[in-house]
This record gives sequence, structure tokens and C-alpha cells, in this order.
Amino acid sequence: MLGAMQEWDLRVTGLLDHAAREHGSREVVTQWADGSRTRTDWSGIRRDALKMVQALRRLDIYPGDRVATLAMNHARHLAAWFGATGAGCVLHTLNPRLFEEQLVWIINHADDRVLLYDAAFHPLVERLLPRCPSVARTICFDSGAFASGSFGGGFDDWIGREDGEALWTPGAEREACMLCYTSGTTGDPKGVLYSHRSNVLHTLAMVAPSCLDLAPRSCVLPVVPMFHANNWGLPWASAAVGAKMVWSQTNDPQVLCDLMREEGVSHVAGVPTVWFALFEHLERTGAAMPPIRQALSGGAAVPASVVERLMRAGVRVVQAWGMTETSPIATMTYEPADWDEMSFEEQVAVKSFQGRPVYGSEVRVVALEGEAADDGPAASGALQVRGAWTVRRYFGAEEDCTDGEQWFDTGDVASLLPDGSLRITDRTKDLIKSGGEWISSVELENAAVAHPDVMEAAAIGIFHPKWDERPLLVVVRREGSELGERELLAFLAGKVARWWLPDAIEFLADIPHTGSGKISKKDLRDRFRDYRLPV
Ligand code: AMP
Repeated sequence: MLGAMQEWDLRVTGLLDHAAREHGSREVVTQWADGSRTRTDWSGIRRDALKMVQALRRLDIYPGDRVATLAMNHARHLAAWFGATGAGCVLHTLNPRLFEEQLVWIINHADDRVLLYDAAFHPLVERLLPRCPSVARTICFDSGAFASGSFGGGFDDWIGREDGEALWTPGAEREACMLCYTSGTTGDPKGVLYSHRSNVLHTLAMVAPSCLDLAPRSCVLPVVPMFHANNWGLPWASAAVGAKMVWSQTNDPQVLCDLMREEGVSHVAGVPTVWFALFEHLERTGAAMPPIRQALSGGAAVPASVVERLMRAGVRVVQAWGMTETSPIATMTYEPADWDEMSFEEQVAVKSFQGRPVYGSEVRVVALEGEAADDGPAASGALQVRGAWTVRRYFGAEEDCTDGEQWFDTGDVASLLPDGSLRITDRTKDLIKSGGEWISSVELENAAVAHPDVMEAAAIGIFHPKWDERPLLVVVRREGSELGERELLAFLAGKVARWWLPDAIEFLADIPHTGSGKISKKDLRDRFRDYRLPV
């Protein structure tokens, strides 16, 4: 027997309708790269998105067409998220930090029809366009000198010709709404095609008190770029509750701290590098930690030392694990039932792992390929995931990327602790195999960044004639520090197994990062390809 309730398609535009109707005057603030700050609100975002729907129709862009953006974080970009999806199109967020070759490949693979871009990327767009014949129209988000898109004006002029008196293009909840290509995987990039339904379900799980704890009084500053993994779902989740949003075109810690204080930011989201830079800035300037309530950290393991600092400052830390393929949040460090009985150290430990699945996701750990099953407590192996917002098939692929029971192999190595918490120990390809035994690069890195003079650290495997691979640790020192190899090795000695200690430590001024702010192991491996370890 079927239920007798109303049909109400779960579409992302419904989230914006709610925000505009119930929380229309809640602000959306943009800090621009030139230092200026502008404001709109959820009603304004909806009006602009509807105008964009009209403007897209005028360009003969149809439901299902891909509308790409090449832009940093700002309110026009946010309006375009809803404008593209509201026209029934598929919003395709491009990562401007990728190599040009990769961008050309991705745009052609996605068959993008329209490209909206920031003026800062104008020279890049000029080089891309001749190689991307599907892109029929370009629109610059900014007005002024570089607003030489198909209309001679910028985004505001383009939508300014419309009155916004339109309806969203109707459609079913299982239709595609967004396309995001994975970063940093091996082989060609792969497109993950989110549906309206998967994004709305992800949103409903995220806003809960145990997860992001979002409410109308929240003020959200996503330091994660809008082109990275659905912006961690924050635009949809903020609209769902009518939270204020603050966007910044720059990640300068001084600017971010000013925004946190002046705009009353309660929730900040960023990769670990963002927290490192924040603490470094506070130390250098002697400024106090801005009074935020919650730090969402993801994208890479956050060291316990960072979790502890944030918690000592009274900030609730939520570490999330996920990937572009999981929309992206699958597990989260929500507080367990016995949280209040735990010691501070135990609480820090809980927040330093990767948490437990949120409703809508399931995880399991299976034997690594070619390895015997390890079924001891906290058995380590390949991490698999499935759920309502996990990928089934990559865009354009002929076959599903999951097994018969929908398990998707994440490429991460993890163990499940006795309390059910997930502990990511590595990427399959980042593990270092020394004499047939695995060394976790993540644990080595975490041990290294616990040293007060270490800003960032990365461990990679280097060829070794006897052991096959041995770890090289690459370190960025805190400014002014003269920390040496011996001292750091002595520090690491008690923290990791003896045979895990790196064979060499290289101090660099800077470590390469990927487009999403993570340490780029791939670039490091390229750079140290011919490195010879001391004998
Ligand atoms: P991406 O698709 O670019 O978001 O990258 C996803 C990958 O980032 C995952 O497969 C993990 O390797 C890594 N990752 C994400 N979140 C965490 C976390 N909290 N701890 C450790 N690794 C993480």
C-alpha cells in the first residue's frame, strides 16, 4: 500500500524559497579581494537567481545543460548556484587552481555550455575558450575592464535586464543539479553528478544539532572554496535554516579574523591549513581568538594539537570525513552519549578521529587488496562507504563505480575503533611500505606538527634498495625557528614506532598545496622523485 502524503520534490531551490520566505532579511555578506564589503540577503539572492533563470532561458540554455563557474567565494557566485539549478541546468563548479590542461579536459568532458567567471581569471578564460568549443557564452561576475563576456557587461548587467518575475523550471527530485570533478586522484578527473534529492538529504542531515548545529541565529563563514566538493554543502544548509552567510574572496587570516569579529561569525569551515594559518597569525600579532562557536574541519586529518587549541578557546570542533563522491560529508565527530563524563583529553581524542557515520551514510573496512583479512580490534583496511548521497556512477561512465551492494571503495585506509569511530590512516597510494610493513604517513605528519616549531609536515615514501620504501619528512618551520633534523627526530622518537622514524627530513620554505588547500603529495613526490636517502 502506498502512503497517502503529498508529492513534494526535494529540490535545492526549495531551500532558497524557504530562506527567502522565512528568513528573507538574513544577510549574505561578501568581502571582496579589493577590500570592499557588500551585503545582500536571502531575498536578494532569490531575486537574482530568478533573474538568472530568465537570462539563461533567453540564451537558449535548456534544462540539463551544464552551466560552469570558475570563481572564488562571493554572493554572485551563490546566486548563480541557485540560478543555474533553478533553471533545471547542472551547475558545474570548476577549480581555477587546476592545470590548464586538466581544465580543458574537464570542460570538454562536461560539455559545458555557459561559463561564468571572476575577472581575475579573465586571462585564463581567454586561453581556455579556443580549446573548449562547447562553451557558447561567457559571463564575467565582475563589471569593469575585464567584463568582456558575451555581453560586454558583467553578471549584474546580464541579469539586470530581467525582472525576476519567473518560476523555477519544474523537475523531479532525482534530476541532476550539480557536477563536481574530483581533485588529485590518479588517471583522468572523474565527475560526480549530484541530484537535487541527494543534496537536500545531505542538507537535512547536516543542519542537525549533533552535526553542524545550524539555526537562524548562526552565521557561517565557509573558508572552503565554492568549487570544492559542493562547498561542503554549506550554501544549501545555510539556506535551509536561514543562517547568515559570510563569503570572502581572500583567505588572508587578518581579513578572516576581522570578518569573524565584525560580522558575528559563529561557524567557520576550513581544511587544517586554515587553522594552522589562523593560529600562526594570532601568535604573530598577539591578537585573541575571535569568539566563534564552532570549527568544522575536513578535507584532511586535523592534528590533535589543533583540536586541543580550538577546544581550549571554547570552540566546538567538528571534524568531518568525506570526499567529493560523498557530497561530501559521510562521518562526523559528534559528541557521544557519555561526552560529559569524559576527560578533556578523551574529548580531544574523539574529535581528532574522523567520527561516525551520520544517518544516510554507512561505512565499513575490508581487507586491503592482496592482504589477508585483519579482524582484530581496530582492524585496518580499505574504507568503503554507501548511502543516500554517495556516488553510484561517475558522469559519462558506462558502469557503476560501486559493487553489487552499492559499496564504494574510497581509496582511504582506515580502522574502526571499538567505540565505532573511524580513524583514517592514509590514502591507499600514500601509504609507505617499508620492508613489507605499512607506515602511515598521516600519523607521522600528525606527530611532527605537534612540535611547536612545525607549521606543516608531509611524509612521502622514497625508494630504498633494501626496504623498498622509507619515509622522507618534509617540513615547513614556523617563521624564525631554527629547528634542526636531530631535534625533530628526538621529538618524534617517543611518538611513533622506531622503524617509522623518517630516514631524512627536508626543511622547505613552502609545501605545495592542491586547489582545495590540501598538501599535494603528488607534487611532493614529483619534486623528490630522484631524491637519495642518506645511507
Ligand atoms: P576530496 O574529494 O578532494 O574532498 O578528497 C577526499 C579525500 O580527502 C578523502 O578520501 C580523504 O583521503 C581525505 N579526507 C577528507 N576528510 C578527511 C579527514 N577528516 N581526515 C582525513 N582525511 C580526510
